[in-house]
Amino acid sequence: MEASLTARDRVGIQDFVLLDPYTSETAFLENLKKRFHENLIYTYIGTLLVSVNPYKDFDIYSKKQMDIYMGVNFFELPPHIYALADNVFRTMLSEFNNHFILISGESGAGKTEASKKILQFYAVSCPSTKLLNNVRDRLLLSNPVLEAFGNAKTLKNDNSSRFGKYMDIQFDHQGGAVGGHVLSYLLEKSRVVHQNHGERNFHIFYQLVEGGEEDLLRWLGLERNCQHYRYLVQGDCAKVSSINDKSDWRTVRKALSVIEFSENDIEQLFGIIASVLHLGNIKFEANERGYASLNNNNQEMNWVSKLLGIPTQVLQQGLTHRKIEAKAEEVFSPFSVDHAVYARDALAKAIYGRTFNWLVNKINESLVNKDSSRKTVIGLLDIYGFEVFNWESVPFFNNKIICDLVEEKHRGIISLMDEECLRPGEATDLTFLEKMEEKIAGHPHFVTHKLADQKTRKTLDRGDFRLLHYAGEVTYCVVGFLDKNNDLLYRNGKEVMRQSKNAIIKLCFPSTEPDSKRRPETVVTQFKSSLVGLTEILMSKEPWYVRCIKPNEAKQPGRFDDVLVRHQVKYLGLMEHLRVRRAGFAYRRKYEIFLQRYKALCPDTWPNGKMGRTKIFIRHPKTLFATEDAFQVCKHRLATRIQAKYKGYRVKGDY
Ligand code: ADP
Ligand code: MG
Repeated sequence: MEASLTARDRVGIQDFVLLDPYTSETAFLENLKKRFHENLIYTYIGTLLVSVNPYKDFDIYSKKQMDIYMGVNFFELPPHIYALADNVFRTMLSEFNNHFILISGESGAGKTEASKKILQFYAVSCPSTKLLNNVRDRLLLSNPVLEAFGNAKTLKNDNSSRFGKYMDIQFDHQGGAVGGHVLSYLLEKSRVVHQNHGERNFHIFYQLVEGGEEDLLRWLGLERNCQHYRYLVQGDCAKVSSINDKSDWRTVRKALSVIEFSENDIEQLFGIIASVLHLGNIKFEANERGYASLNNNNQEMNWVSKLLGIPTQVLQQGLTHRKIEAKAEEVFSPFSVDHAVYARDALAKAIYGRTFNWLVNKINESLVNKDSSRKTVIGLLDIYGFEVFNWESVPFFNNKIICDLVEEKHRGIISLMDEECLRPGEATDLTFLEKMEEKIAGHPHFVTHKLADQKTRKTLDRGDFRLLHYAGEVTYCVVGFLDKNNDLLYRNGKEVMRQSKNAIIKLCFPSTEPDSKRRPETVVTQFKSSLVGLTEILMSKEPWYVRCIKPNEAKQPGRFDDVLVRHQVKYLGLMEHLRVRRAGFAYRRKYEIFLQRYKALCPDTWPNGKMGRTKIFIRHPKTLFATEDAFQVCKHRLATRIQAKYKGYRVKGDY
């Protein structure tokens, strides 16, 4: 399909590399803003895509648009996420290697939407057969399911992903999508039991209560009223105008069937979701000795017991006592009411978190590619805060000093927090702060109210600490730090769950799980080790970047807040990227790969590239286009010759 550029498409400069006369931050922002106000939300820095969230829908994601971008040279059309997706896809096919697209930006900037657009582009543009369509549908439908269970309304984003996601799409050598795999990182489990004002629990709870069929709700013992459930109302915004829980419920139900969840799986799954709601409503009374007690007839407990298939006595004992092993004996020590509430919440978080992992595994089973022939993959990484772990080095700034401050063993902030988490009942957020003040005092990048000079002190509350990061200062409030980091599930909580007859819970709490007497892993420790694994996965692939920018805090269309955007341009490292691209070379490839593709061209069509030791560098995209065009002509001639020779055979498209 022919595509033509209109005058509007040309507003501003569509590739920052071409921005003249020089690369000031102000000129950069002006260009971004000018284009944004013309609804041109995409701009390149070479092959990096900058995307500004428009907070409104316009018609740039249609099938027609996809067709326009399919198989066209990257810089020929207005910048688009489809151009990037197409470029990655064709590079993968021609070089037969693995790639990943790192999508970054702050919460609400448009990362998840971008990753969905890329996935949709592949779903439409890849070759299709009946079998492949099956895989395609599952890949697409895994999204609403994961979002229902892993996304929630926050102050920044009505559909905020509360887990990090890495998804591989696997392709055969003809570019057919043959499978996929999802890795999830650190679901924000604390949200199950607590939400800040203006925020919600995970969508699925509201979807079930609002949209669940009458029979289902009756079977689950649920009322059709979110206000009835303690875990759903702490943010005081169960209803949100931008979210339709009822219709989302229907989408999720349908998606679950397509991804091969059996009716039995679905029943067990919602049994668990309902039991979490019932758990949250369990209230403990103090008995005459001041310990937590529950009477036998507690309605909520009976529902949990029924839905999870755990005898009531076992559950009752588990919720109010802790098992202590003393010599050869087992002794049950009663909880105080506070302790019981804490243990109940820990159980709810563990149940939900493990069920989420089960869900991801189940989706992966349905995406498994059974064919063992060689595949290539494109990975999509949608994960907030990845920059913090310094995937790319930050020039002109010694970041080690900050990393040490956060990560150093025994003295770093994480270590101190983990230490405090080992003293449940004694440690508080404030003792954590005091510990930091004691151990890190004098560090040039760390300040608190107590440590600050008089002027700075005015800008800090007692519960705050401030870090001087690369991109500027960030003030953190310690309230909730320990709770969020604590992943303590009392051992007998696990034992109780092991008695469950619910098939999913049985898988989530296997009796083979070692009863670790070691200190339990805290949330940050888990996060760190999973990121190390992720870095390994990414190292073997070629990176592409999408940087998402949030134009205003109000989630409104047409508003471009200069200060806010300037800040993001800074910490997304866009100016550095631009400088590197301008000074450097747009195209860099190993000689073997370059030769493999262009060897058919005669010597004088070789570009004026600069020869490096192992790679060839081409500074200007135009040179590359010329080479690529020559290659296409050559390929076409070859194909025509082959066709003439072997009449009746079809020559497949790109290779
Ligand atoms: P993030 O994943 O970065 O937190 P999302 O991708 O969930 O942010 O985007 C937040 C909201 O912004 C979306 O729910 C949608 O309303 C809007 N949005 C994001 N990207 C686009 C886009 N390309 N076009 C229109 N609206 C968008
Ligand atoms: Mg997101």
